[in-house]
Amino acid sequence: MKIRTVEFVKSVADAAEAPKAPYPVVAFAGRSNVGKSSLINALLQRKRTAYISRTPGKTRLINFFSVNEALYFADLPGYGFARVSQTMREEWQRLIESFLLHNHNIRLVIVILDVRRGITELDKQLLDWLEAHAIQSLLVITKCDKVSKNESAALQRRIMQERVLSFEPILFSAVKLTGISEVWSAISHECFMSK
Ligand code: GDP
Repeated sequence: MKIRTVEFVKSVADAAEAPKAPYPVVAFAGRSNVGKSSLINALLQRKRTAYISRTPGKTRLINFFSVNEALYFADLPGYGFARVSQTMREEWQRLIESFLLHNHNIRLVIVILDVRRGITELDKQLLDWLEAHAIQSLLVITKCDKVSKNESAALQRRIMQERVLSFEPILFSAVKLTGISEVWSAISHECFMSK
């Protein structure tokens, strides 16, 4: 994918405030610290884009980027911080669910996994919820440079045995910059190919 323009659009605390241009939307989800910003920056070939949204106070908001004035990336708040209260967790869930259910331009939710942790309970809950609502998902296994090729391939195989998926989980590394074209190809397939 040739990236011509990337623009930070806004951060929202309410799904109703999401930007209104009729672009397809790709959302990014994962546990806090999983490597979500690094994945977004690598896809956009920018060093800092997604970190803009990590200034204090903005980590619990949905951050929107417009790509080539043709596509939105929605950076969802990271989930699963052990220390947050139940109320806060429910607030996040409400925000994410209302956004995903009411935004009709959502084409793909990229669920990011750390290669050393595999699929956690919260990841499974999200994947089941997406499936129940017929929202397309793509698993990206990140930080693959931290383990051997055999280990990352074994995790990929295990996940494929456990779940019925539309896409093979993608092995990614923001350090080695591997897996970028595979992720873009799934995005293009869901956003720009007529069905
Ligand atoms: P976020 O909180 O999910 O947005 O995660 P970040 O993108 O900020 O990454 C969290 C930490 O993991 C940072 O220290 C990153 O440098 C590191 N990290 C992210 N992706 C990779 C990767 O592919 N390989 C390695 N080795 N480290 C990574």
